[in-house]
Amino acid sequence: MIIEEIATTSILTRTGGFLATVCSHSLQPYGGCGLGRSLCGVGCYAKHQTFLTRGRPWGGYLDVKTGAARLYRSQYDREAAWARRRTGNFGVFLSSSTEPFPPQEKRYGVTASVLTAMIEAPPDRLILQTHGTGVLDVLATLRELNDRCELRVHMSIESDMDRLPGLPGPFASVKARIEAIGTIRAAGIFSVVTVSPLLPVRDPHGFFRRLAEVADAVVLDHFIGGDGSANGSRTHRTALPEAMRSVAPESVRIEYRNAMAEIASEFFPGRVGIGPDGFAGRYSIDRSLTNPETGQAVT
Ligand code: SF4
Repeated sequence: MIIEEIATTSILTRTGGFLATVCSHSLQPYGGCGLGRSLCGVGCYAKHQTFLTRGRPWGGYLDVKTGAARLYRSQYDREAAWARRRTGNFGVFLSSSTEPFPPQEKRYGVTASVLTAMIEAPPDRLILQTHGTGVLDVLATLRELNDRCELRVHMSIESDMDRLPGLPGPFASVKARIEAIGTIRAAGIFSVVTVSPLLPVRDPHGFFRRLAEVADAVVLDHFIGGDGSANGSRTHRTALPEAMRSVAPESVRIEYRNAMAEIASEFFPGRVGIGPDGFAGRYSIDRSLTNPETGQAVT
């Protein structure tokens, strides 16, 4: 992997598209992703954004934004005022196109420095979205931030299986991620498991029962409708759908998401989010693809 420290002129990005309904800003401490060659990198939505990759292979590079904390402080007043004027809330999504705690975070500490800067200059809302257990390294900082802003930690756990045939393994095991989000929740921080993108689940009842022991809410997102393209066409160009199909043929259809959401709601009553609404913290079940007479998912 090519790792470069880069100078950037802006770290708070005003959101557009679906993310605009979630937070006023996104913040990427790194460019590219240190997890790009693990399981989540196969179907990663961010890797299709050519303006980010500029032709570089996903997982083959990492741009380290060493000045991120200083930039955050310098942009804070203007961007917070803009957001509060516009939506009444200055919200930061950290991060939408990179992992904030890649292995390189231990050396560079960019995310940790930004979080420390936020203690003195907190956003109104902070959503920390991660695939890794490195989030535990900043637990003390998160406790402080939890007193200063509306903090949610989102842990991506896409399945109860670590491996899909023919694909690389995850950066952190399912078990490790479940334990990590449990630790975050035990610290009194609102904790959400994002099952995104939803992969085949071997034991749905067992999976969601376990998640309910460690999280306050769950969000489900399918690559169809979730990857930023019509009908999941971006993801269909990757190896992910075939691997999913080989384990559970029904999992490549949007109805699978609804069926899983129904089961999840048994363990997270009123706390199941779907797609962008879920990421925004609006928890309910989208029944648009369920049969209103039977309550079952349309197949
Ligand atoms: S951690 Fe997120 S941004 Fe990085 S490869 Fe995985 S899904 Fe993509």
